[in-house]
Amino acid sequence: MKKIGPEPYKIKMVEPLKQTTREERKKLIARAGYNIFNLGSEDIYIDLLTDSGTSAMSQFQWAALMQGDETYAGSRSYFRLKDTITSITGYPYVLPSHQGRGAENIITEMLIKPGTIVPGNMHFDSTRAHMQLKGATPLDLVIDQGLKPEADHPFKGNINLNKLENVLKEHGREKVPFVLITVTCNSNGGQPVSMENIRSAAELCRRYRVPLYFDAARFAENCYFIKDREHAYKDSELIDISREMFSYGDGCMMSSKKDGLVNIGGFMAFKDEVLHQHACQLSILYEGFPTYGGMAGRDLEALSVGLQEVLELPYLRFRVEQVAYLAERLQEEGVPVVKPPGGHAVYIDGKKFLPHIPQSQFPAQVLVVELYLESGIRAIELGTTAFTEKDPDSGELIYPELDLVRLAIPRRVYTNAHIDVVAESVLSIYKKRDQLKGLKIVYEAPVLRHFTCRFDFV
Ligand SMILES: *Cc1c(COP(=O)(O)O)cnc(C)c1O
Repeated sequence: MKKIGPEPYKIKMVEPLKQTTREERKKLIARAGYNIFNLGSEDIYIDLLTDSGTSAMSQFQWAALMQGDETYAGSRSYFRLKDTITSITGYPYVLPSHQGRGAENIITEMLIKPGTIVPGNMHFDSTRAHMQLKGATPLDLVIDQGLKPEADHPFKGNINLNKLENVLKEHGREKVPFVLITVTCNSNGGQPVSMENIRSAAELCRRYRVPLYFDAARFAENCYFIKDREHAYKDSELIDISREMFSYGDGCMMSSKKDGLVNIGGFMAFKDEVLHQHACQLSILYEGFPTYGGMAGRDLEALSVGLQEVLELPYLRFRVEQVAYLAERLQEEGVPVVKPPGGHAVYIDGKKFLPHIPQSQFPAQVLVVELYLESGIRAIELGTTAFTEKDPDSGELIYPELDLVRLAIPRRVYTNAHIDVVAESVLSIYKKRDQLKGLKIVYEAPVLRHFTCRFDFV
C-alpha cells in the first residue's frame, strides 16, 4: 500500500466531529431529498464538498488577525498584503476584492467589449458567466488529453498552443481582449499547467499583442507540480517558480478562498498602473475603497500570512501527496478515478463505478448518497445533475460525457486518518456496488438545479 508522510503541523485547537448512525443518516438524507446541499453541517462527519473557504488557519494567521487595521482608507493591513502579493507575483499594483468573483467582475468589465472572444485553458464557471454577461464568448482550449479521464499526462491543464495561435491569428487583438490561464485548471480536476506551456502561450500573446492574465486560485499547487514534474525546476525554490510564472502575464485575479489559506477574500494585481487606477474606480462602485476592497482589515492580514505559508515546501508536498494518496488507495482496488489526481480533489467516474445504473438515473449522485449513508461523508456530484442540458428545439435531454463524484480535500483540515476513513468507505461501497439503485428527480428549479433539486429512489 502507498505510504504517506505525516502531517507537517500539530493540532492546537480542535473542532469536534459528530458521528451519526446509519439509521439516523437514512432519515437525514431522505429529509434532504437525497441532495447533500440540503444537509446541515452538524450531521456531516467528513465534509469534502469543496476546498473553497474551508482551509484551517495557522497560529500565525490567527495572531495576524489581531493586528488588522480597520481604517477605511490607507489601512496598514492593505500595504502589508500588497507587499506580500508583489513579492509573490512581481505585480506592483494590487486591489483586494470580497472574493474571486468580485475581481472577475471588475476585470471583465474593464477589458471586455461585446462580441469579443476570451480564450483560455478552461474557464471556471463564475469566470465564464462574467465574460458572457459582458458580451464575450469564453473559449476553452485545453489540450485534448486534459478532457480524457484515463489520459495520464503530467500537465493536463496545458492550453493547446496551436489552437491558441489560430484564434489569435484569426481574430487579432481587436477581438481578443485577453487570454486567461487558470492555474491549476479547476474545471478538469485541478490539473496543472507547465511553465513551458505558460511561457509559450505568453510568447504567442506578445506576438499578437494580446494581454495574458492568470486566474490564480491554486497558483501554489501549480508551482509545486512544476517543481515536481518539470525537470528544469526540480531544484528551484517555490517562490522563484511563482515569480517566474507570473512574470509571463500582465496581471492576475485570485480567489483567496483556495491557496490564500483563508476563509474569504480575493484580489487582482496588475503590471500596469493605468489599468489599476481604472480597476480602483470600479472597486469603489462594487467592492469598496481600494485599500480594503470588501475585506475586513483583519482578513487582509490573515491573507498576507496565508499567501506566504502556502508556498512552504513541507506544506505543499504534504497537501499534494495527501490527495494523491487517496487516489492511489482507490485505484489499487480498481475504483475508476480520474488520472492523475489534481491538486485539490479526487474524482470518481460514476458511470464506470455503477455500470448497471443508466445515466438517466444519476449514477454519480447515487454514489454521493451512498457515501453519506455509509459513513457521513459529504462529496459532490459534478455530472448528470449539474450539467445536463435540454435541446432547445426537440426538448431532448443532452447528458454530459462525464458523470463524476468529486472528493475535494480542504487544506490542513483533515488528518491522514480521516483520509483512510474516506478510502475505506469508498472501497466498502465498491464491493457492494451492484446492490445500489438509481435515483430520479422529483423537484427541480429551472436553472442551476443541482443546488436545490430533490431526488427519490426509482
Ligand atoms: C473559486 C474559483 C473562482 C471564484 O472565486 P470565488 O472566491 O468563489 O468567488 C474563480 N476561479 C477559480 C479557478 C476558482 O477555483
